[in-house]
Amino acid sequence: MADARMADAETFAFQAEINQLLSLIINTFYSNKEIFLRELISNSSDALDKIRFESLTDKSKLDAQPELFIRLVTDKVNKTLSIIDSGIGMTKAGMGIDNRANVVSVLHPCRSGADVSMIGQFGVGFYSAYLVAEKVIVTTKHNDDEQYIWESQAGGSFTVTRDVDGEQLGRGTKITLFLKEDQLEYLEERKIKDLVKKHSEFISYPIYLWTEKTTEKEISDDEDDESKKEQEGDVEEVDEEKEKDKGKKKKKIKEVSHEWQLINKQKPIWLRKPEEITKDEYASFYKSLTNDWEDHLAVKHFSVEGQLEFNAVLFVPKRAPFDLFDTRKKMNNIKLYVRRVFIMDNCEDIIPEYLSFVKGVVDSDDLPLNISREMLQQNKILKVIRKNLVKKCIEMFNEIAENKDDYNKFYEAFSKNLKLGIHEDSQNRSKLADLLRYYSTKSGDELTSLKDYVTRMKEGQKDIYYITGESKKAVENSPFLERLKKKGYEVIYMVDAIDEYAVGQLKEYEAKKLVSATKEGLKLDDETEEEKKKKEEKKKSFESLCKVIKDVLGDRVEKVVISDRIVDSPCVLVTGEYGWTANMERIMKAQALRDSSMSSYMSSKKTMEINPDNGIMEELRKRAEVDKNDKSVKDLVLLLFETALLTSGFSLDEPNTFASRIHRMLKLGLSIEEDDGGEDTDMPALEEEGTEESKMEEVD
Ligand code: ADP
Repeated sequence: MADARMADAETFAFQAEINQLLSLIINTFYSNKEIFLRELISNSSDALDKIRFESLTDKSKLDAQPELFIRLVTDKVNKTLSIIDSGIGMTKAGMGIDNRANVVSVLHPCRSGADVSMIGQFGVGFYSAYLVAEKVIVTTKHNDDEQYIWESQAGGSFTVTRDVDGEQLGRGTKITLFLKEDQLEYLEERKIKDLVKKHSEFISYPIYLWTEKTTEKEISDDEDDESKKEQEGDVEEVDEEKEKDKGKKKKKIKEVSHEWQLINKQKPIWLRKPEEITKDEYASFYKSLTNDWEDHLAVKHFSVEGQLEFNAVLFVPKRAPFDLFDTRKKMNNIKLYVRRVFIMDNCEDIIPEYLSFVKGVVDSDDLPLNISREMLQQNKILKVIRKNLVKKCIEMFNEIAENKDDYNKFYEAFSKNLKLGIHEDSQNRSKLADLLRYYSTKSGDELTSLKDYVTRMKEGQKDIYYITGESKKAVENSPFLERLKKKGYEVIYMVDAIDEYAVGQLKEYEAKKLVSATKEGLKLDDETEEEKKKKEEKKKSFESLCKVIKDVLGDRVEKVVISDRIVDSPCVLVTGEYGWTANMERIMKAQALRDSSMSSYMSSKKTMEINPDNGIMEELRKRAEVDKNDKSVKDLVLLLFETALLTSGFSLDEPNTFASRIHRMLKLGLSIEEDDGGEDTDMPALEEEGTEESKMEEVD
């Protein structure tokens, strides 16, 4: 029989990546091998979900096996543990599913010693079977195909065979693990029960364990003979005594019978009362739902009543998933149930994209059972559910915020999501703004909220000030902050690329405008009359210098004006109130696929602001007044412009020209004579952009 079966077995090689994964699983020492059972049961549960979902629109799909179950059977003689489900099964083609990309993702963390229990997150959970088994046989029957057997001892290949003679499953999958000699504990009833309780308690299908039951029974001799014939081997003689009264022989025997014992509670956790559920129960539900190996960070369990009713449990994980912003996969982690029946996961629109990291279940009493994805998207009920979920998520985040450590963890993992929410969700923008945290000129080592900022605002301060840039280091000594700091105004550091987008939408907080320290429109107008007068005078006396500078710089700047915001630096370059900041320009340049037509009208129109109190500016003014064509004035203006580009957060288009100017200044400073050779290439003229002509002039 076996030979006949083997005759038409096809042999396949594992993909190289799977092979590597298998050898890791087999050869690396993991203490946490027990997770294999959770993974396999979870696969069974998924397969059951799939067939149940199909049957909603076509009842006949269940015909081959109407009951939905997971069964566990141990066989001490053959040392096997089998997991049997009546799920959707696999077609022959389905057994060769290509998980290569996922395997690569799991290989890396596994190699670096991470816990193998993360395996389920990468779509390769099945292979965890090899943590405990030396050989695995998968028998499977899908409605659309014949029954097949997949078999492998992991050594590089597997076989697939049509199963003509084996016990027919009807529909579903049976996975038989031939346990390694040191893993025989998984044959123990007790062990299996404990594991199911620990990891798979909330599976919403019944999990049965084939258990041995021993009962004592009294029978007479003649009955005994009969039963011996019937039950061969299963009867054990324990006692013998004569019943004198009736003159008949009677004995007590132990009868060993088997039965399917239900070993999980299936009442869904979301239907139970929150006050009766322990933290551990939530944690094990969370883990079974998500395959996470760590507990959740926060949970929100609630029901909504009224014209619409639904129950939900939402979780925030401790870490962001590795593919959080993988735009190829639009996914969310909310499982939708309708009256306890699993309908779908990844249902679009049930939760906005920025909350896609929130995991959980929603069970609606009001949606039709046979609802399709397309219908769902049109459905009004779904919109109400979505609105409520967002509201509850925000409540949950606020609850996390009550504990500083937890919130720091949360914020580190998911602040980008909150900011994306600020950008996209106009209805909840102000509530989300409460959740933002930043470093600032006054925050020290701890993040601060906008609310706390407002409490620290100085008298007379109307606006909230912020600066955007590449990093805290890059902005904290920015010349743009000089005046603000001097006045004691706090400035928020927005140093996440997404801050630019978020603040662009947020615009204000608690009716206070958010004002960029690097853009036009920064008005610190609390000057006294005297100060104003003084400023006017300065403005007048620097008018001609402003003009000279503008002439030298040409199109490189929009205009040149006297600055309000710098105290020490000679000048800065500010950008238009509605255009991009220097930081945004940097971000856009870094986006490989950006539409370059945008940059021409969005990219920063720069205004040079000069500081009349700065010595360099004063000296320039004097020189320009004597001779506005003074060559050294031109040189210096270009150098000032280029250094201002750097200190204002822009990048240099021609760093070499800039370097040459600096070198020339160094030589001047060191009193090194210019070479007078005609081929002086590292000395471009300072006043022009180093064109050939100007170079010649210079050399002459
Ligand atoms: P996944 O995380 O996708 O479940 P696995 O390696 O555990 O990754 O399983 C790979 C695929 O094999 C599954 O996506 C599913 O299509 C199929 N599969 C695994 N177990 C079963 C089962 N018990 N019934 C039907 N299909 C299964």
